[in-house]
Amino acid sequence: MVTDVVCGMHIDETKATEKSEYNGKTYCFCSSSCKSAFEKEPKKYAERKESGSEHQHHH
Ligand SMILES: [Zn+2]
Repeated sequence: MVTDVVCGMHIDETKATEKSEYNGKTYCFCSSSCKSAFEKEPKKYAERKESGSEHQHHH
């Protein structure tokens, strides 16, 4: 399982149809809209989730 870094959904990477490469890493998405959101600002999403805690709440 991998995480869709845009919406936080867990997806099966073997079934993921939407993928994008950034910084040598492949990211999988639940939908084309998540993918295009990522591709607009890959930096924002790619950096958000490298280490540790899954859920960050924005206050
Ligand atoms: Zn998604």
